[in-house]
Amino acid sequence: MCGIIGYNGKRNVKKILIEGLKALEYRGYDSAGIAISDGKNKEIIKSVGRVKALEDKVNNESKMDGLFGIAHTRWATNGGVTLSNAHPHTNGKVTLVHNGIIENSDSLKENLKKKGVKFYGDTDSEVVAALINYYYKGDALKAICDAVKDLEGSYALVIMFDGDTKLYAIRKDSPLIIGYGDNEFFAASDISALGNKVKSIVYLDTNVVAVLSQKDIKYYKDLKEVKEKIVDIKNYNFDTSKGEYKHYMLKEIMEEAQLVRCFLSKYLYSDFSEFDLTPYKYIDIVACGSAMHAGLAGKYIIEKYASIKVSVNMASEYRYEDKIYLDKEHTLIILISQSGETADTIAALREAKESGIKTLGIVNREGSTIARESDMVIMTDAGIETAVATTKAYIMQVLVLSLMGIKTSIKIGKLEKNVLDEYKKLPSLIENVYSKKEEIKDLANKVYKIDNCFFIGRLIDYAISMEASLKLKEVSYIHSECYASGELKHGTISLIENGTVVFAIITDKNIKDKTLSNLKEVESRGARGILITTDEFDIPYDLKLTLPYAEYFIEPMVVVPALQLLSYYVADLRGCDIDKPKNLAKSVTVE
Ligand code: GLU
Repeated sequence: MCGIIGYNGKRNVKKILIEGLKALEYRGYDSAGIAISDGKNKEIIKSVGRVKALEDKVNNESKMDGLFGIAHTRWATNGGVTLSNAHPHTNGKVTLVHNGIIENSDSLKENLKKKGVKFYGDTDSEVVAALINYYYKGDALKAICDAVKDLEGSYALVIMFDGDTKLYAIRKDSPLIIGYGDNEFFAASDISALGNKVKSIVYLDTNVVAVLSQKDIKYYKDLKEVKEKIVDIKNYNFDTSKGEYKHYMLKEIMEEAQLVRCFLSKYLYSDFSEFDLTPYKYIDIVACGSAMHAGLAGKYIIEKYASIKVSVNMASEYRYEDKIYLDKEHTLIILISQSGETADTIAALREAKESGIKTLGIVNREGSTIARESDMVIMTDAGIETAVATTKAYIMQVLVLSLMGIKTSIKIGKLEKNVLDEYKKLPSLIENVYSKKEEIKDLANKVYKIDNCFFIGRLIDYAISMEASLKLKEVSYIHSECYASGELKHGTISLIENGTVVFAIITDKNIKDKTLSNLKEVESRGARGILITTDEFDIPYDLKLTLPYAEYFIEPMVVVPALQLLSYYVADLRGCDIDKPKNLAKSVTVE
């Protein structure tokens, strides 16, 4: 969700904290703040809105340099977006930043109030500061350990104590990593906040306290010192610049062809057991948002070629459902999440593990919770995705699922091995889509003023439509509904008026005519149809975008980039804040 950075070292603390917050901006937030200290004095500066506003305020108001500090971008969950609710929060000798949600904060607050503790705001995070301060009798480590025993919910906390020059970090169900630089130490919610400043990191384990001094870092579990695994990240690509592009979203779409090329060079002909679905009769895909749409595309491919029953589930629902597994031993649960930290998906993963079902994570972040806790993991290798609306990570998720389906199909003798060669065409097919950008811009020009639209498609074209519709509304704020084409007349076809735009996706020849009839149905009620199809068909149509034909198991990765571009250009014409759409967060680490 929002971001945390903590620093203890010799460099300019304020500069490092602000730089870290800027790198975390993409995660989505509504207010920001920093606290710095030299061990004796401390200074807290907060602001509502962008980090730039905070930076200006720090430049104007800050009166000290500080030796260490903590900073935060908040995505409000408990309490309105106000200056007093912005982090860091202070109570007594304790100052902290917090990511996550404390579910029992109301009762904790009531108890503390009865003991005379005063509060200034409405956040659960302030309650944590008060609770730690309540337990603090001179031993910071003990106060933290005592306090977290009372907490229900999720937290990543970085804490400072008055009169102490150390930073204390602890987490449960919210991400937090510890970074080692050159005689300087960091805590951050996300590796991208650390830029090239660190050489190695620790993915902090649940309820292990990291104590960062100016000299070293020590780790404690239940007050006893423990060792954490230090991971080398010298080769990590921290390039988060926009390059020649106006927005990250455009840059990231333009990276897709090359990412696919690299991924295929590693996985296409090699035999990684993670891609082998032959041991399973049932697959439950569990994910949220675009990752779930990637799962839906994967379902059609896996069912068609590997003949395994796949059900696609929203993680937020799945975790609370009464689950009926027909054959636990032959069931696989696939968790898909760009960040690997999606709270609902993690909950589903843990539940699956408890019931003894095999789990496979498809994630883009090494060391993330899903990567660490799944039985098997496939990394999508999409690099850092900065735009909040996912593009390249989605394409890589579909690629992973498609390869799983086809590799399994070959294993069971349904397809010949040489079918894999088809994937080699994919990067240049995506590049071909890039070459159509003027045509896509023209289309954007024709539709960018609309308020509402529909997307329709059947089967895999429905999966594509779902993602296209979501992308358009995420970045352009145009209200868009997606329907399986045959379903619209059972749904809100009554909303079709003269000129209502309906995008029809047709790539699958088996259902081409069916979707065309559905398109006619809406046209006869006044809709303005726009056909998105491939050069396999020659469908005469007024307004259409024709994309290159590819095999069924490849086509979504050709069509979706075009529709991502369409959403991008529409949003740009509407002057939207494309990389940071309002109210959206990059990784949703709360329920
Ligand atoms: N629950 C806390 C709040 O509303 C933290 C939210 C966050 O993770 O930014 O302030």
